[in-house]
Amino acid sequence: MNTQFFAAWIEEIAAAVRSRRDHLTQLDAAIGDADHGANLDRGFTAVREALAAASPQTPGALLVLVGSTLIRKVGGASGPLYGTAFREMGKAFGDAAEVSLAELSTGLNAALSGVQRLGAAAEGDKTMVDAFAPAADALAQAVRDGVKPQEALEAAASAAEQGAKATVPLQARKGRASYLGPRSVGHEDPGAASTALLFGALRTVAAR
Ligand code: ADP
Ligand code: MG
Repeated sequence: MNTQFFAAWIEEIAAAVRSRRDHLTQLDAAIGDADHGANLDRGFTAVREALAAASPQTPGALLVLVGSTLIRKVGGASGPLYGTAFREMGKAFGDAAEVSLAELSTGLNAALSGVQRLGAAAEGDKTMVDAFAPAADALAQAVRDGVKPQEALEAAASAAEQGAKATVPLQARKGRASYLGPRSVGHEDPGAASTALLFGALRTVAAR
């Protein structure tokens, strides 16, 4: 996977966030402050502009720019968390021109570690980690099993979707939704839903 692949991934995320913007905001209206869709849409719009202006030459440089832009442009919890995720993935890729499936898996694990270092959420706390961790695990398992990239990214995307759906019965222990206590039960976590979009976009681009 080269710089073009990662640029296509980011374009696909931006399009998915745009089309699911109101849905993400509705999820956040139920257990937060109704800004998650708007936050991410603003962030990825800024990301597209930053990429067009700088045209980074490696996957690592591209992802570091994505991360820095999200940190700068997205208020709220999700900006620094997603920003850190993309930056850590970019740093893990160094200045390589091509990234293998195994390296992508390592990079996504570094991204997840960054999110957890910053946000201190564990699986089951009803956050983006509940989609990210199973997706990263599914990809790591697929790499160990020697599965083809398209199939591996399919597994990661469905694990993220299942992880997001599985946040519905959970009580939030991190972030704004945790202020609701037991009233956070019965709603899908918006950040877990947007993480499923990220992995869904990866599957879409790999399937081309
Ligand atoms: P805010 O909560 O500041 O309004 P957003 O609405 O953009 O920010 O994002 C909310 C999402 O951020 C939550 O649904 C959750 O998935 C994620 N989140 C919040 N706090 C944490 C945390 N400590 N660790 C991981 N994810 C978190
Ligand atoms: Mg919010």
